[in-house]
Amino acid sequence: MSSNPECLFCRIVAGEIPSERLYEDDEILVFRDISPQAPFHALLIPKIHVATLNDLRAEHAEMAGRLFLVAKSLAGEHDLPAYRVVVNTNAEAGQTVFHVHMHLLAGRPMRLGLG
Ligand code: AMP
Ligand code: ZN
Repeated sequence: MSSNPECLFCRIVAGEIPSERLYEDDEILVFRDISPQAPFHALLIPKIHVATLNDLRAEHAEMAGRLFLVAKSLAGEHDLPAYRVVVNTNAEAGQTVFHVHMHLLAGRPMRLGLG
């Protein structure tokens, strides 16, 4: 399914739920996280509904690659020389919204922790 009416991020894509959009093209939307975990915290999502990283298929490869390129461009535009990208996959890893998304976090020191 390309859109899931029950899905929060599909509803953000559709404009049914407001978001602070930072970037948009045919297949990707970027908006600010509502509960920022760093001074800069954006979410990059495909416009189509894909629940988790485990659900990505070969046909999504170009879009998935472009998520990284958009992350890089966004960091450049926002003068963020250092940043972290994170894709939480499944609940035990902290995924709470089951529409695949890349967190882009920056603006504070970060370490690779287990928490
Ligand atoms: P995850 O825990 O990796 O699934 O990330 C989901 C993220 O979505 C969290 O960081 C939430 O703060 C964020 N979030 C939830 N609802 C909204 C919303 N309406 N607008 C923007 N971000 C949201
Ligand atoms: Zn969705």
